[in-house]
Amino acid sequence: MIIDSGNIDIIDYKSGRVVDEDGNLKLEYIVQLHLYAAMCVHLSLGNIRSLKLIDIEGQLFDIVYDEELSKALVKDVAERIVKLNNAINARQFEDLIKPDKDRCGYCSCRHICNYMIQSDELIYRTICGYVKRISSSNMYILQNGDITYYISGIGVYPIDDYYGYIGKKLVFINVIRTSSLANNYTYKVTENTLVYEL
Ligand code: SF4
Repeated sequence: MIIDSGNIDIIDYKSGRVVDEDGNLKLEYIVQLHLYAAMCVHLSLGNIRSLKLIDIEGQLFDIVYDEELSKALVKDVAERIVKLNNAINARQFEDLIKPDKDRCGYCSCRHICNYMIQSDELIYRTICGYVKRISSSNMYILQNGDITYYISGIGVYPIDDYYGYIGKKLVFINVIRTSSLANNYTYKVTENTLVYEL
């Protein structure tokens, strides 16, 4: 950002292409730079003189500054933050979430998300439930609603008190079916498995 005699030039260096397949500047970058401009205006840093993008090849692109667009975006962001805060306070996310079986399987929030759906095609699965029974130091039996999951391979973890987890809610990220013939309820941990207690 260059501040020059009360004027501001915002230049954003991008690590990729800034235009879409039709050669138009990507909308997300137009939005992003207008939000930067709104921050500068909010902080009374000066007048917005120019918004520019420089792509990975060093090519410069001008974005036409639209003050009304900037204001509208700020209003939109403010409304979304209020909506999000209300959802967090009420713990009601149904109107905001967008579960998608292709996306949920890789989402970094999946271990805490109650709305996750997973594709049957995925090799690595995320399994969540309350520990109902521990049949051996190698297997936990989890209950999630009407479904009972069997997770084997627990013996690789140095757990002092296996039975201390009975009744606890656990999430296993990146477990796999015990065999290609196994049903949808029998899994084993792998070297990529992460276990969370919720
Ligand atoms: S796991 Fe939850 S937060 Fe992540 S994409 Fe799916 S619904 Fe959204």
